[in-house]
Amino acid sequence: MGKPLISIVVPAHNEEGCLAELHRSVDRALGQTGYPFELIIVDDGSTDRTADVIAELCEEDSRVRGVHLTRNFGQQSALLAGLEEAAGQAVVTIDADLEQPPEAIRQMIRLWESGFQVVHGVRRDHPQISWFKRTTSRQFYRVFSFLSRIPMDPGMLDFKLLDRQVVDILLSMPETDFFLRGVAAWVGFKQARMPYAAGLRTAGKTKYSTRVMIAFAMRGITSFSTFPLRLATYLGMLMTLLSLGYGAYVGIRHFFWEHPQPGYASTILLISFLLGIQFLLIGMLGEYVGRIHVEVKRRPRYIVARRTATDQTESEPSDHQRPVEDQRLPL
Ligand code: UDP
Ligand code: MG
Repeated sequence: MGKPLISIVVPAHNEEGCLAELHRSVDRALGQTGYPFELIIVDDGSTDRTADVIAELCEEDSRVRGVHLTRNFGQQSALLAGLEEAAGQAVVTIDADLEQPPEAIRQMIRLWESGFQVVHGVRRDHPQISWFKRTTSRQFYRVFSFLSRIPMDPGMLDFKLLDRQVVDILLSMPETDFFLRGVAAWVGFKQARMPYAAGLRTAGKTKYSTRVMIAFAMRGITSFSTFPLRLATYLGMLMTLLSLGYGAYVGIRHFFWEHPQPGYASTILLISFLLGIQFLLIGMLGEYVGRIHVEVKRRPRYIVARRTATDQTESEPSDHQRPVEDQRLPL
């Protein structure tokens, strides 16, 4: 039996200068493994010659396929489109710009062969990456892990290997806000981390301005955590407690020591107390909005890895090439 197919999925937005080199490196890296592969390039509304370059590559190599989106939908949507298209038994997602070295795919495949169903590439920063990008990215993962309770390391970008089983589950999740980094860690299964040294962009420039990066971070966090909504509740509690404390302090002072200007303490008290109550009520609204937010995602509530029965004549295949039909999702 030959080795199963591996799909390489590449989101590309204005990457005319990178794709040929990427194709060469992927070919080289996969060639040594003996696995057949398909290279799926998702043209995410490019306005340069990306589509032409894809056409040329397809002509030259029948393992290359292009998927062209109608407009620029963003990297995450492009990734999703690529996953949908991929037929492989394992799917590797990788950027077009060679900041993520295709040679590292070999190591990912080895981990997959040894039974891991999700392999996260973890970037070791290139010394030439700016201090700003490095620090903001690091802080983002810290905050994200804390708020969502999904363990994520700095540098866990979208360079990943996903087993077919995992891909099918991701595709079955009807949530609109696809955030690969989050869901790939969220699904569970046997996960591995594979550190790699970051390369530098071969051509073109980054598509992520600071503004887009902030929007991306917000989307990631709100899609995995309702903590920001809960802030109002905490603020409200704090306000109310503070105002009660202040009330007690003024009261005690009034009886034992002095009489401050009449009306002043009660005004402050009233304002801060009512503000506190108001925050609390907003927080309560937030709790319900948060539930709606979680509910409308329609994520599966759990994912079954495998089932065991007492009268098993043949043991469940434990390797990654197990057929996916026996995974029924409680949707
Ligand atoms: N990308 C995309 N659509 C976008 C923005 C980016 O498909 O709207 C692709 C881009 O072509 C690249 C990957 O996503 O393959 C990562 O983008 P980039 O290298 O610009 O981001 P950075 O590595 O600087 O964070
Ligand atoms: Mg890049």
